[in-house]
Amino acid sequence: MQLGDQRASGNVEDRRGIGIAGGGLGVGAIVIALVAYFLGVDPGTVTSVVEQAAPQRQAPMGAPTDEMGQFVSKILGSTEDAWASILQQSNSQYRPPTLVLYDGQVRSACGIGQSAMGPFYCPEDEKLYIDLAFFRDLQMRFQAPGDFAQAYVIAHEVGHHVQKLTGVFQRVETIRGRVSEAESKRISVRMELQADCYAGVWGHRAGAMNQLDTGDVAEALNAATAIGDDRLQRQTQGRVVPESFTHGSSEQRVRWFKRGMNSGRPIDCDTFSTGSL
Ligand SMILES: [Zn+2]
Repeated sequence: MQLGDQRASGNVEDRRGIGIAGGGLGVGAIVIALVAYFLGVDPGTVTSVVEQAAPQRQAPMGAPTDEMGQFVSKILGSTEDAWASILQQSNSQYRPPTLVLYDGQVRSACGIGQSAMGPFYCPEDEKLYIDLAFFRDLQMRFQAPGDFAQAYVIAHEVGHHVQKLTGVFQRVETIRGRVSEAESKRISVRMELQADCYAGVWGHRAGAMNQLDTGDVAEALNAATAIGDDRLQRQTQGRVVPESFTHGSSEQRVRWFKRGMNSGRPIDCDTFSTGSL
């Protein structure tokens, strides 16, 4: 990518090295929050714990100065510029999310996040959470190297934030309370594929701003392939169970990313009313 001219976003909270500060995990009620993950992690396996308010060490805000910190801040800045201009066309204002960098464990309004869950977005506090170790995983474990592959991860989580702004999260949460688990998974797939398509919409803008190198799109498509539910299931359990998909197959993730990338318009990302995903 070519990010030389891109401003770095200041909406970065650097919790690296801070950990989950303050007090032990005082157990209150157990809540399973609706959180959007990048990988096909079953949110049901992640139980979060409501704690007594514990003092937290203040995390510095603003673009970190280290190389990776600068990179994510610029990608976030690029998504802010893209979505602000897209929403402006429909006379809406973009309220940017905060990106939280952490290592190991992190406390969010949706519960305790862990690196193993992969990057995630919490609609309650409108923050995206990333442990940069995931980028190493992306390269080594999922064999999806490249800066644009990493940018796609951030843009996907930002896509979930756009869903929060457009009311999709709220609608889905209402529906989920009334439907079977199988139906709930199918809705989850539609949400995830829309976030992939929104990542593509950002990619389109990045291309228009001359931020892309040859081969960048291929990196994102390779990453989308690597983290499809079918591919992950084959790797982890040796077989593919389409009914348990929460994010969509590799082919679907690639197709919806491409769709956003080609059109650059969020209106073309309506995964909810389409008959065939
Ligand atoms: Zn997601």
